[in-house]
Amino acid sequence: MQSHLQIIVSMIKIKTPEEIELIRESALLVSKTLGMVASEIKSGVTTLHLDKLAEEFIRDHDAIPGFLGLYDFPNTLCMSPNAQVVHGIPTDKPLEEGDIISVDCGVLKNGFYGDHAYTFEVGEVAPETKKLLQVTKESLYEGIRQLKAGNRVGDAGFAIQNYCEKHGYGIVRELVGHGLGRKMHEDPEMPNYGRRGRGKKFKEGMVVAIEPMVNMGTHQIIQLKDGWTILTADKKPSAHFEHDVAIVNGKPELLSTFKYIYDALGIKSNEEDEFHQK
Ligand code: MG
Ligand code: MG
Repeated sequence: MQSHLQIIVSMIKIKTPEEIELIRESALLVSKTLGMVASEIKSGVTTLHLDKLAEEFIRDHDAIPGFLGLYDFPNTLCMSPNAQVVHGIPTDKPLEEGDIISVDCGVLKNGFYGDHAYTFEVGEVAPETKKLLQVTKESLYEGIRQLKAGNRVGDAGFAIQNYCEKHGYGIVRELVGHGLGRKMHEDPEMPNYGRRGRGKKFKEGMVVAIEPMVNMGTHQIIQLKDGWTILTADKKPSAHFEHDVAIVNGKPELLSTFKYIYDALGIKSNEEDEFHQK
């Protein structure tokens, strides 16, 4: 048992400060790509069009789309509208007023991945949907606050789950966050649920992608026959927000940012300030 545990622990790749800066560069390119997408989202636009724009944007910045071809995914962006949770495939169906659309983007640059996501509103959305987005984003920050050296994976999962379930929402169990680096998905797995004090310990130099997937209703999901698209079992809306975070000086340091999205949408926010050390 002891040796088995050691093998699992050793799979977590601790990053040097130089490697963390390279992951930051990749994460920020995803942030800029999402900012570009934010400025293009409106009713009548197709997710396939946005996908093409994102692929061009990423290639113009000397990087390659991180999802395209990964496990044979066919596109640059995962585009998951309304009841779709994650892994939606872009289509030629136009977005409509009142939709929400979760956009997940990855890039590979200088040998390192960035991976983050935001759920956008298309025009005016229903108040209860707006609240789902707000609570999901807040739960992301609740989770990030737990990314301190000495805390454990279960502390972050518990924080997210506790925050969302207080609002009556369902936390998706089958899909989780992950370590991030030379591979898109590294150890440790980062469930958005859990028990305090359980799971692997966070250490200086770890980098993770933390990504609550939160359903307005049941936490249960189904997968479409395309082998990718995940949607809520009750067809109620679902939201997804994801940030890339390093543990630096024992504390969470945000590598990705929603700043470019907020600039595009004219939103003023200081929500990320507490996660920047310089
Ligand atoms: Mg992602
Ligand atoms: Mg991810």
